[in-house]
Amino acid sequence: MFVDTHCHLSFPEFDQDRNEVIARLTEGNVSVLIDPGINVETSRKSIELAGNVDFIYANVGLHPHETEHPVNKNVYDELASLALSPKVVAIGEIGLDYHYPGYNRSAQHEAFREMLRLAKFLDMPVVIHCRDAWEDMLHILSEENHSAMRGVMHCFSGDTVIADACIRKGFKLSIPGTVTYKRSLLPDVIRSVSLDDLLTETDAPYLAPVPYRGKRNEPAYVRIVTECIARIREISVEESAQGIARNTIELFRLPPA
Ligand SMILES: [Zn+2]
Ligand SMILES: [Zn+2]
Repeated sequence: MFVDTHCHLSFPEFDQDRNEVIARLTEGNVSVLIDPGINVETSRKSIELAGNVDFIYANVGLHPHETEHPVNKNVYDELASLALSPKVVAIGEIGLDYHYPGYNRSAQHEAFREMLRLAKFLDMPVVIHCRDAWEDMLHILSEENHSAMRGVMHCFSGDTVIADACIRKGFKLSIPGTVTYKRSLLPDVIRSVSLDDLLTETDAPYLAPVPYRGKRNEPAYVRIVTECIARIREISVEESAQGIARNTIELFRLPPA
């Protein structure tokens, strides 16, 4: 049983063949898929999809790219009420992204803090998107009392030092398909942590693993990520898959798969 803890299956890239993609999940033994929202509209779509398929769950989020202009209170109110829908298992994706110059950092900080507080209030885990902003992200987590939170660094892209800092704050690391890319730092990270600290994801439709790199990613490829982790840690694929499924069920408080 493989788990894709972060897949945008409700995005338009899957409008033509979503049912076939879901059928390939069942054939490929993927037992859990979590679909995160990036704003009000996509969070609503994630919830709708999760309502239709047993093993699909939703997250309600506000991506840092969505915060170029300060977000008004209605948006937060709407996200808070969506978060109460059945099958919403986390607040995400939320976070900081400094990758492209010119982003409004203070608007990102404000939205990130607001959403962390919502997660704390609802006692839900957080799914954090962080790119080139580790120092500020860890600082904000400390200020917002991370010890009262649990969650995951989705599509983890840091090195072993950052991995250690995140884990010491109580967060798990989700490994995406980029682990199969030649220059990836992830193999070192995967060797340096415990299997208990790891989750798997595709972030489909983006970041397809080798040998599909450059094409549309799809959630069934999470098997490739799980196999890659097994190879790096020198354990069986079964042990890798079972450990990661256990971590996922525990973090998101899912019914046993
Ligand atoms: Zn992301
Ligand atoms: Zn994403």
